[in-house]
Amino acid sequence: MSKKILLLPGDGIGQEVIAEAEKVIGWMNREYGLGLECERDLIGGAAYDDHGTPLSDATLKLAHEADAVLMGAVGGPEYDDVPRDVRPEAGLLWIRKEMDLFANLRPAVAFDALMAASSLKAEVLQGLDILIVRELTAGVYFGKPRGMETLPDGTERCIDTQSYTRSEIKRIARVAFDLARQRNGKLHSVEKANVMETGAFWRKVVTELHQAEGDGVTLEHMYADNCAMQLVRAPKQFDVIVTDNLFGDVLSDCAAMLTGSLGMLPSASLGAVDSAGKRPALYEPVHGSAPDIAGQNKANPLAMLMSLAMMLQYSLGADDAAKRLEGAVQAVLSDGIRTEDILDSSKGQQAVSTSQMGDAIIDRLGS
Ligand code: NAD
Repeated sequence: MSKKILLLPGDGIGQEVIAEAEKVIGWMNREYGLGLECERDLIGGAAYDDHGTPLSDATLKLAHEADAVLMGAVGGPEYDDVPRDVRPEAGLLWIRKEMDLFANLRPAVAFDALMAASSLKAEVLQGLDILIVRELTAGVYFGKPRGMETLPDGTERCIDTQSYTRSEIKRIARVAFDLARQRNGKLHSVEKANVMETGAFWRKVVTELHQAEGDGVTLEHMYADNCAMQLVRAPKQFDVIVTDNLFGDVLSDCAAMLTGSLGMLPSASLGAVDSAGKRPALYEPVHGSAPDIAGQNKANPLAMLMSLAMMLQYSLGADDAAKRLEGAVQAVLSDGIRTEDILDSSKGQQAVSTSQMGDAIIDRLGS
């Protein structure tokens, strides 16, 4: 049965890295008969230029209809003076909100061949493979009231509100339990239950869910500040971490940087499974549109290709194809093939271009 993939290249290097994903999708269709049908549309600055909005209703409709969305990146300095509500980045926030993509998955995997790119010692990192599950559509980034006010005595005050409902916590925790079960069965739930009401509530709801549905998963609770410290002290103690929107934002960047370059970091954002068994999903590299290197065929496409691997695994049930793609990434890196951002010049490596890296992946995928 064919599956519909919506490709949203976006801006800057988004265009270049998605072209490499298309090559690999073509290979996957030939080799595994996946029947992936790709459609392209605009998001971000490219959509603003054409439609005056960074995400049109027509694009959103295509996204809802697709089995999965693969996105490049949005933004660029040419949009700095565009009103905030129609800036390229607003398109990304809208699509996540409109598709109700509440679960953001950010893996942090240390590749042996890139150990030198990390600021941590190799022995701390060797074999590192963790997954951060961040709540993406609630919490302090969305809570009301928010904004500025002036108190009767003239004092200016600015407010953000952290808020979580029981169902918002339960649905993200449930995703994390499922993922932990598919991995090593170990889950850390992270909050600040010691000083925040929402933290104490988060801990209570996750504990109750664990008692009711947590078979096969060992649950530990950890304060967010300690988690930040443990991530750089002994990151291999973790398997899956589930946390709220704000702590997830900070901790996932921290965990990701253990592994080296921005050009190596994939992500997935998932919604709830609907009555037809379909889970809305958007896959994208963590990096932005990299205006400094855009249009130069220099961008590292591996974060995009590993986002594609996540799509194969989580949306298309093509685990073998996903593993094969991850294996090809490992092989390319072990062979010393590098884009400029991950180059180790002490080893006499020469940088390859974006398209050459894509070709090297196709080559290692073999036939
Ligand atoms: P960025 O991620 O675009 O770039 C940061 C640095 O990392 C740059 O030096 C860039 O050249 C390098 N880099 C990033 N990805 C790379 C890759 N694949 N290969 C090689 N080098 C890579 O972040 P920024 O410069 O802060 O932001 C640029 C624009 O992107 C802004 O408009 C920002 O709002 C937007 N942005 C979008 C997203 C997204 O679409 N998800 C995420 C972050 C930033």
